[in-house]
Amino acid sequence: MVARRREKVLPRVCRECHAVVDGESCMRCGTSNFSTDWSGYLVVIDPRRSEIAKKINIDTAGRYALKVR
Ligand SMILES: [Zn+2]
Repeated sequence: MVARRREKVLPRVCRECHAVVDGESCMRCGTSNFSTDWSGYLVVIDPRRSEIAKKINIDTAGRYALKVR
């Protein structure tokens, strides 16, 4: 019998700074306060030129969520 487990891996997002997290802790603020309940995927390439980045206080290029619950 083959047990085939399908794991749905939801990207986790830092509740503190909204960064999309790959590892065990946030690379920006170092917390492990994550959420999988978020919406609005945002890729910031040049934070100084992005109005949305300014709005949600992003100063580093990277992947972020717009809304984190
Ligand atoms: Zn963070």
